[in-house]
Amino acid sequence: MTEYCGKSVFEGIAIGKLKIVRHDESVSVIEQGTPAEEKEKFYAAREKAVAELNELYEQALSSVGESEAEIFSMHAMMAEDADLEDGVLAKIEAGESAARAAEEAGFELSQMFIRMDDEYMKARAVDVIDVSKRLCRYILGKKEEKIELNEPSILASSDFTPSDVVKLDKSKVLGFVTTFGSDNSHTAILARTLALPSVVNIRDSIDFPFDGKTCIVDGFTGKVLVDPDEKTLSSYRSEKEKTDAQRAARLALIGKKSETSDGQQMHIYCNVGNSEDVKTALANDGEGVGLFRSEFLYLESNDFPSEQKQYEEYSRAAKLLGDKLLIIRTMDVGADKQAAYFNLPHEENPALGLRSVRICFDRPEIMYTQLRAIYRASADGNVAVMVPMIIGVNEVRWVKEIAEKVRKDLKAEGVAFNEKMQIGIMIETPAAAVIADELAKEADFFSIGSNDLTQYTLAVDRQNQQLEKIVDVHHKSILRLIRYAAECAHREGKWIGVCGELARDLALTEFFVACKIDELSVSPPYVLPLREKLRSISADEASADAFTK
Ligand code: PEP
Ligand code: MG
Repeated sequence: MTEYCGKSVFEGIAIGKLKIVRHDESVSVIEQGTPAEEKEKFYAAREKAVAELNELYEQALSSVGESEAEIFSMHAMMAEDADLEDGVLAKIEAGESAARAAEEAGFELSQMFIRMDDEYMKARAVDVIDVSKRLCRYILGKKEEKIELNEPSILASSDFTPSDVVKLDKSKVLGFVTTFGSDNSHTAILARTLALPSVVNIRDSIDFPFDGKTCIVDGFTGKVLVDPDEKTLSSYRSEKEKTDAQRAARLALIGKKSETSDGQQMHIYCNVGNSEDVKTALANDGEGVGLFRSEFLYLESNDFPSEQKQYEEYSRAAKLLGDKLLIIRTMDVGADKQAAYFNLPHEENPALGLRSVRICFDRPEIMYTQLRAIYRASADGNVAVMVPMIIGVNEVRWVKEIAEKVRKDLKAEGVAFNEKMQIGIMIETPAAAVIADELAKEADFFSIGSNDLTQYTLAVDRQNQQLEKIVDVHHKSILRLIRYAAECAHREGKWIGVCGELARDLALTEFFVACKIDELSVSPPYVLPLREKLRSISADEASADAFTK
């Protein structure tokens, strides 16, 4: 038995045959022409690659939806990127073949992404490699390898590229294991969407002789066991039976109320990154969307997304949800989510710098455009907006002034919108929590961003994995702040939710019940486990003191 350990991106246990997917080895060539001929080969290959990517976009659109499909239009743009082209041409001039030049220029560009601070941008390195491999294939006239699956299998590779993912027969995939990758990699996103126990970043490659061997993926601990002994296998089999039975039992909770055993109601909403994720939220019986992270729309674009583009995305989500509430969080760009075209200054401590609403104080047009798009979408469903990173009452008043201008302008233009759309704020800085009494007079609702509230209260960088082991995520300072914010909100007749990762922490459900938190927003697969937990708790017996004293 060989054991690997990495980062689990979806909980659960998968047991099945291992299928090792190897990507093309590096280019070794072939008849090389003059630089002019090699350049011609490159341009011809690029044209074909872009055409193929456009086809893949259409294919993905009908098989997996718009958000997965978007990646191919991004790849088409990358294939025509001027930096990549310059890199390839310079290498051809220096005597390389077109194929080798494309491979090397792609590798160099990918290294630039890997060195970026932002996790999302780091994860794009694999996209650049995918694009340069596609160019190489066309230059060399090779066929793309397909992942053939004869039986349900656990797939292992260095990482899976978007092209791998779109072509997979997903009904035959039991789980993923990758050598590289992070929470933001395509493999991780797909694993969560398909609810497949998966482990990324095992920092080791699973050797080819293991192909076809039995494999266990333990998505609870991040362990991957290849060729397990009988004892381990049978204990995992019974563990899997148990977790499968629990999952099946939870399906019976679909359509049931989210309430405690003595009838205290709580909404369970979902966190989503785009309108496509709303379908997953609904499939998991999410009762609404408590956090629509609108910044992804900004991060995926090369320039500020237009009002119309934003409106279409928000409206799609609102329509999918019907009467269910959709809370759109205004863009939270900055800190670990950088978009180059914002041209933010270099900062020593970006998490403490120009981030989200702070960027808009000097550039109010960003907020104005986004609020216009959100107000327009409010005519198409049950939409609310919330603003992150608030630290003061004046900031909320500033946002409300812009909202008022938007309402006035839309009315003058005869555009439909909901005049009474709620404007909430995130409580994710200690400052906001401490003055929650004043903020509750200004905002229509609160949503606790426990990820940042923890980072800023405990002075722990949320990106630093080493600190994860040291920090007490239930530190009473955080719980006291949440409790106080809830008291302040309720005193003013406002409602309060939690949308950070603490919301899905079942050890805290009783605490949230005791604080009479009105709504918890979690990733879609956690809706039913949370509902199950909630229904086992008596509100009457729940005590917040037990957590904060
Ligand atoms: C949070 O900070 O808890 C939150 C939900 O927002 P994000 O994780 O996107 O910063
Ligand atoms: Mg946050």
